Amino acid sequence: MATDHQTFFIDGGWVKPATSNRMDVINATTEEVIGSVPDGSNADIDRAVAAARRAFKEGPWASSTPADRGAALNRLADAVEKRGGQLAKTVSMQNGMPINVSEQLESAFVVGMLRYYGALAAGLQAEESRPSPMGFTSLVRREPVGVVGAIVPWNFPVALSIMKIGPALAAGCTMVIKPSPGTVLDSYLLAEAAEEAKLPPGVLNWVPGGREVGAYLVSHPGIDKVAFTGSTAAGRIIAQECGKLLRPVSLELGGKSAAIILEDADLNTVLAAIPSASMLNSGQACFSGTRVLAPASRYKEIVDAYAATVSSFTVGDPLDHATVVGPMASAIHRDRVNGYIAKGKTEAKLVAGGGSPAQSRGWFVQPTVFADVANSATIAQEEIFGPVLSIIKYENEDDAVRIANDSEYGLGGSVWSVDRERAAKLARRIESGTIGINGYMPDMNAPFGGIKASGLGRELGPESIGSYQQYKSIYMLG
Ligand code: NAD
Repeated sequence: MATDHQTFFIDGGWVKPATSNRMDVINATTEEVIGSVPDGSNADIDRAVAAARRAFKEGPWASSTPADRGAALNRLADAVEKRGGQLAKTVSMQNGMPINVSEQLESAFVVGMLRYYGALAAGLQAEESRPSPMGFTSLVRREPVGVVGAIVPWNFPVALSIMKIGPALAAGCTMVIKPSPGTVLDSYLLAEAAEEAKLPPGVLNWVPGGREVGAYLVSHPGIDKVAFTGSTAAGRIIAQECGKLLRPVSLELGGKSAAIILEDADLNTVLAAIPSASMLNSGQACFSGTRVLAPASRYKEIVDAYAATVSSFTVGDPLDHATVVGPMASAIHRDRVNGYIAKGKTEAKLVAGGGSPAQSRGWFVQPTVFADVANSATIAQEEIFGPVLSIIKYENEDDAVRIANDSEYGLGGSVWSVDRERAAKLARRIESGTIGINGYMPDMNAPFGGIKASGLGRELGPESIGSYQQYKSIYMLG
């Protein structure tokens, strides 16, 4: 049964959109329409930004204490938790995410994150009295930056929203959130949770829409900070706009991370972690280790093992717990991934998969592995964002570091070895914002984000609250 929405959640209530334009949401597996929502317009953004500004300047939120905000985040966590199963299922139907992954990352993890930021909010120290070596005292304040325009992609729509909502609310900001058109139904569940949690009107507002509406939000005069997750191409455009406006911006962008297998690695550990470290969400994860760096001494063994393991993955209905690889999130995206696979066949040796299976329905791509890949190949340099791995040979550790760092991106990565200190030593040499040892999993208590073309700023950890605050110094001279 399709879920149709007629309103937007703005200013604490459900309001009629300014236009009659609508967007359909399509199930990635059945290709059937599973819902429709109003398509936001600039006038809807104006209304949402005005509500967020009022809430920031005048409402109870403006005078809230850190403890009030901690309590609000905990109420939101409870309301989201109640909808956890529904959130996971809705995301999996929309973008094809295997249900094991959505139950974890789009449900349990987000509830944990809200409670984590709830606890941090309650303990925030807004003002510090600091003695000056110049003989007086300064009050150093951390004030909320203001109204945040948050733009999220389709691949982890709930987690990437909460990664912004948690720290922004802890800091005392208010928000207008623009979800991605393909995954908008889950944003209604979050809005219902915000309503149930009795957040003051205007603190959180959602306006779904396409990139034009996103661009309007980014440059809106009522926005004080932009928090963006999405492609590097869109991130560059948004960074330019924010640069022009001198508007703070955080950018979580693309990646092409290296999974470095050291000579002494336990191959079973490596293979067991392919679905989480290199093909999470059917490869539609920004931090995936899609460049597999294998030592020359074990190259053939590793290629054979990857080909056999990846070929054995269950491809199918994302709502089935046995599924490892689901469909791509859209037909356009499936075609894009297949385009890269076709290119890969001209650049390297195909050892597993190699295109879309013969299913009549669903935007599936077979999990695919290429061997004998040069790091300069297109499939090794560009983000494919699908279940496609490139295995690249290296001669020694220096060579592995050189290859890993020879990338436009710097977001994730992993090092595999039975000697974790040896692996950590090598990890310190990798140009990347995050890296895992014998696995990969972002930690909510550690900053997450990229360097180079993977972005600016960090989410997660206590550090991300700082990106929603600004300093004010009051010099107590007399
Ligand atoms: P996208 O850049 O096309 O769109 C992301 C969001 O931005 C959507 O809501 C879209 O409507 C909006 N948008 C697009 N252009 C815009 C513009 N000029 N101004 C304002 N808004 C605009 O990305 P996508 O295809 O939805 O998502 C996939 C990309 O996201 C991949 O490149 C992936 O690596 C990246 N991503 C990064 C992270 C991270 O944390 N670094 C996490 C997940 C996804």
